[in-house]
Amino acid sequence: MQQASQNVQTITILGATGSIGTSTLDVISQHPERYRVYAVSGHSQLQKLADIALKFAPKCIVVNNQQDAAQLHSLLPKNTQVQIRHGVDALADIASAKGVDTVMSSIVGAAGLLPTLAAVKAGKKVLLANKESLVMSGQLFMQAVREHNATLIPIDSEHNAIFQCLPLNYQYGKPGDSGVSHLLLTASGGPFRESLPQELESVTVSQACAHPNWDMGQKISVDSASMMNKGLEFIEAKWLFGVDEDSIQVVIHPQSTIHSMVQYKDGSVIAQMGNPDMRTPIAHALAFPERINSGVEPLNFFEQANLSFEKPREDRFPNLFLAMQASRIGQAATTALNAANEIAVAAFLNEQIRFTDIYKVNKQVVDAQANITLDSIDAILSHDKVCRDMAEDVITRVRR
Ligand code: NAD
Ligand code: MG
Repeated sequence: MQQASQNVQTITILGATGSIGTSTLDVISQHPERYRVYAVSGHSQLQKLADIALKFAPKCIVVNNQQDAAQLHSLLPKNTQVQIRHGVDALADIASAKGVDTVMSSIVGAAGLLPTLAAVKAGKKVLLANKESLVMSGQLFMQAVREHNATLIPIDSEHNAIFQCLPLNYQYGKPGDSGVSHLLLTASGGPFRESLPQELESVTVSQACAHPNWDMGQKISVDSASMMNKGLEFIEAKWLFGVDEDSIQVVIHPQSTIHSMVQYKDGSVIAQMGNPDMRTPIAHALAFPERINSGVEPLNFFEQANLSFEKPREDRFPNLFLAMQASRIGQAATTALNAANEIAVAAFLNEQIRFTDIYKVNKQVVDAQANITLDSIDAILSHDKVCRDMAEDVITRVRR
């Protein structure tokens, strides 16, 4: 008993009410002897947070504001021991608290950056689902990982797959030394893989959110439909593995059975495969370097359709190509792209603009805001704000 409790990993889950947060709690609940939830956060869904509190007994819950904190309090038993806090500083506190070993970074969007960085600066094991952190601040973020000796394990299924396919002694920024020639980033192509470019103009919110293979939050579902998600992942891969743009290739693979691959100089290609369920990368990252059950059904090869591969088309998925271009321009361009895209996707979800307008907003903001040097997180955050304001302005002009 004593032995087991020494090995318990304490975990903070940033964004516990979301799709990744829920899958993380599902894996944790299968291994109560290995993992203990230290703290959770959520931006809405207070009843869900109350249910999590009853089931996992965290020490602390962080919500958006004081009003939500009071309401959550009223949903919990009178004698509850859980501390309820609110705001950005509280998020950074639960990410960096002394008693925490591991932080699951699963807030969506730019809001995830500061708490994730707080975890990195505290030298935690950080399980990174929030790709936007790297898109916004890749160089500074990775520098902080190295300086503070944090352990960074990707949760995004493609990056987790690449992580699994790289040699264990892979050295950041030196793919050639490991014999790596290319990272092959697979993409399902989303619900509009076969649509004609002109058909995309009249796409509805529910069509865009209906991903053929993965069940995800709304923002990433729209990003998958526009393939902006793959563009953000292209930038994420560049920073996570320290490779240049020419070493990353996007491959459309509609069945989502291969989650990504690494191509080596000798002609070998190593792929990671499985059913499309985020509990696999989550369980892998939680237990790394061990392996635990995730609750995911084993892949049955005899029930697989043929595996197929295609090149992405620029006329159908201009957001992907804009992101790859922004990656080559540099940090200001990718920060601008992320900010514009968050505003544009929210406007599409509110039915203010068309699906195809997302690209128009993104392109105008990136074109105008790409050539600035960003050498601190404060500079990145103010650039993010300028780009959001510009995107709002562009939306008033492209609005139908
Ligand atoms: P989601 O929308 O389901 O959940 C987002 C979580 O963030 C929720 O807990 C929400 O309360 C919280 N949140 C939202 N806005 C916030 C704010 N302003 N401040 C603080 N908290 C806020 O999203 P998701 O699909 O779970 O995705 C989370 C992250 O993981 C994203 O960065 C996404 O790109 C990445 N990701 C998700 C998947 C997936 O399968 N869902 C796969 C790969 C990567
Ligand atoms: Mg992904």
